[in-house]
Formats: sequence, C-alpha cells, structure tokens
Amino acid sequence: MTRVVGFLIESEYDRGKQNVIQAIKGVKDILPDDMPAWQHLEAVARTIFEEYGFSEIRVPVFEYTDLFARSIGVSTDIVEKEMYTFEDRDGRKITLRPEGTAGVVRAFIEHKMYADASLVKLYYLGPMFRHERPQKGRYRQFYQVGVEALGGTHPHVDIDILVMLHRLFAKLGITGLTLQVNSLGDSQCRDAYRDALKAYLKEKLPTLCADCQRRYETNPLRVLDCKVDAAKFSDSPIMLDHLCGPCKDHFAMVEGGLKKLGIPFVVNPRLVRGLDYYTRTTFELVMDHEGAQNTVAAGGRYDGLVKEIGGPAIPGIGFALGVERAISLMDTSRLKPARPALFIAALGDEAVALVMPVIHALRNDGIRVETDYGGASLKSQMKKADKYGAAFTLIVGEQEMQSRTAVLRNMATKEQVAVSLDNAVEELKTRLSGA
Ligand code: ATP
Ligand code: MG
Repeated sequence: MTRVVGFLIESEYDRGKQNVIQAIKGVKDILPDDMPAWQHLEAVARTIFEEYGFSEIRVPVFEYTDLFARSIGVSTDIVEKEMYTFEDRDGRKITLRPEGTAGVVRAFIEHKMYADASLVKLYYLGPMFRHERPQKGRYRQFYQVGVEALGGTHPHVDIDILVMLHRLFAKLGITGLTLQVNSLGDSQCRDAYRDALKAYLKEKLPTLCADCQRRYETNPLRVLDCKVDAAKFSDSPIMLDHLCGPCKDHFAMVEGGLKKLGIPFVVNPRLVRGLDYYTRTTFELVMDHEGAQNTVAAGGRYDGLVKEIGGPAIPGIGFALGVERAISLMDTSRLKPARPALFIAALGDEAVALVMPVIHALRNDGIRVETDYGGASLKSQMKKADKYGAAFTLIVGEQEMQSRTAVLRNMATKEQVAVSLDNAVEELKTRLSGA
C-alpha cells in the first residue's frame, strides 16, 4: 500500500518509523571496516584474471527485461520470481540485472567484439539484484565477480577457466570447498535425456513440492536442483549416460585435463543450474557443509546463448562468484583499515596554522597524517591519536612553538624525540619511513 504525501510517495516501510528512513529489507551497507576484505578480494581477482588475459568490462545494471527473459529462460526461478522489473517513465520494461552474463553477452554482440579476436576474455564485478527471501548469504542486492570467455569451443578453454577459479580461491586462502563438475550435454542429446528424466519423475510427481510439479512440465532438469526435494532423486537417470559422442569426448577431455593439472574435483552427475543457457561443462564450488546457501561460485558453458540473443553462433563459458559468500569464508583478521603513520596534536590556532602545510606536504609524499584541527586539550588529542591507531604523534603546543622544536612520540614504545619545526617535513619523513 502506498499513499501520496505531497509530491512524495510514502511507502508502508516508511510509516511509523519516526521519520527515520532505513535501508530496504534484504540489502546491506558495506561499511569502511568491511572494505579491506572487499578490496583484497577484488584486487586478487583482478590480478589473476589479468594474468589469464581477461580484460574488465562494465555494463549497465539495468537492461530491457527481454534480455534476461530470453537468456536466463522464462521458466527459471530467477525470471519467474526474483527479478526487479519495472516500467520506466517512457513505458519501457526494465529489469535490474539479476546476473552478469546476459549484459556482457549483449555488449559483446552490440560492439561486435567477436570481430577483434577469436577468443574474447572479459571479467566484471558489481551488484546484482534478486527479490529473494533475505537470510544469511542471500541478499536482494549482492555482488558478483565473474568472467566470460567468448569464442572458444575447445575443452582447454573450460580447463583454463576452472584452473583460474581454483587459483583464485587458493590465493584468497579459502579452503574446504569442493569443485563439482557435470556436463549438461547440448541440443543434440539433451532432449532424449529430458524425456528419460520425465519418465522417471512421472510416478514421483504427486509427492513433489508445488514448484517441482510445475517444473516437471516447464523445465524438468530444474527438478534435480530443488532446494526441498533434491535428496529424493539419487537414483534418477543422469545426463552423463545420455551424452552424444562430441559431448562425451568434450567432458572426458575436461576431466583428463583437470586431473593432469592436479585440480581436485568431483563429478556430480545431478548438478544442474538455475539458468537455462548452460550446455556441456557446468560446475559449482560448494562449501562442505549442507545448506541452501552453500554454493560460492558457479558457472559453465553456454554455447547457444550468443545466438539466442541475436548474435552470431559463438560459444562461451564463464562463472560468477558471490562476493559476500566468499568473504564470509575468508580469514579477514589481518585485513584492517589502514592506520595513520602520524597524528599531529596541535594546540591553539597558531600551532594549527603552522602544522597544516606540514600535513599537506607529508600527505603529498604518501604518508597518512591525521589531526583534529586544534581546539581540544592535549589529553583529548592524545586519546584521539590512540583511537586512530597512529604509529607516532607529534605534539605542537605553545612551548614548542617558542622553542621551534616539537615532540615526536612513538605510540608503541612511548619513546620521545625532538623534531625541529623549521625542518619538520624532512625530519618527519626520515623518522616515519617504515612506520
Ligand atoms: P543459489 O543456489 O544459492 O540460489 P544460484 O544458483 O541462484 O545460487 P547463481 O545465479 O549461480 O546462483 O550465482 C552465482 C553465485 O552468486 C552463487 O553461487 C552465490 O555465491 C551468489 N548468489 C546468488 N544469489 C545470491 C543472493 N541472493 N545473495 C548473495 N549471493 C548470491
Ligand atoms: Mg538462486
């Protein structure tokens, strides 16, 4: 229910909150204390992706709804239940992106990137939006880091991607994950499997959840991915027994390549994905504990997608990892916001005027300096220096102004030395190097 208040629209969330507007349910602020972990993950990902020859691409967070409906598939949970879709002021149907692949592939086609190289390797990071029930590890705005390699059909492209994913998690120090791999076949062989699966599911149908009863008609493979009933299907027919010759060879080469490179994995023949565009190799990195939020990264090959959304017949493969879930598995204890090297406690306006140029000169040299711009007593400024966690504090009071010599205190050892105020920048640079 909404009602119009003046020219603003007041929503049911706003009422009764004494005018305090809070964040929308299911979204999260990422605060300064969280940032070192986020920046670390992003930096590690960028480094590894670039080592593997991937370039960053940034695509819009909103696109025409049709793009997602056509690529992800109209009978998937994402499109049926989770998209943030609205009409804009021009009456266009717009959706906040629920995942990254569709937009990247759209841009790949629109800019004819296939004309430049036979294999185009792209990575992205940014927010995704899904209207899901909020809980730990499941948000309505969440972040993904992902890659797409467009143009290669060779199994070695799949292997490259999987090795890169493995290395990324190793570099982040995240252990206890299992790489599960499967093949979903292609248009040659999947139909026959779908029929076999439907025949198997038919007698179980009355015992399945409402979602699966519907999926049985619209998208039977997705039944295997049911969050409620998955355990019931441990004797179902599997795609691997129905692969056509080329799909079988492809999967065997991926398996062989991973083994040769020492990348641990298990074949999960009932792994399917929540998006329709996948073909052949599909995979997930799964936490060892049970639970509905136990997948950290997921992806696979999508050989039909580029054509499906209007481009040439170009194959592709990619993955996306959930940043919040990955960070929850990282040891973040050493990833803390940077501390200033120096706090300058200046007492009185004259002292502040004297130290400000020193502060700017030091910052210009890459040294982190804080001050509280005078005002407060020495005692309260020393407290502030402690709170900042500064390595050193420079004290400049009336007496120091007169003698042109300030006191530099090492906050850890409490050792104090004199610093000439006439040559403060140079002296401090020398004394702070390494702080
Ligand atoms: P799930 O089975 O957990 O719903 P999914 O199959 O919908 O995941 P993908 O679309 O494959 O997920 O997205 C890749 C990754 O993005 C997931 O493995 C997960 O880490 C993350 N992710 C997906 N949805 C959310 C969400 N709502 N909140 C936080 N992270 C998410
Ligand atoms: Mg989901």
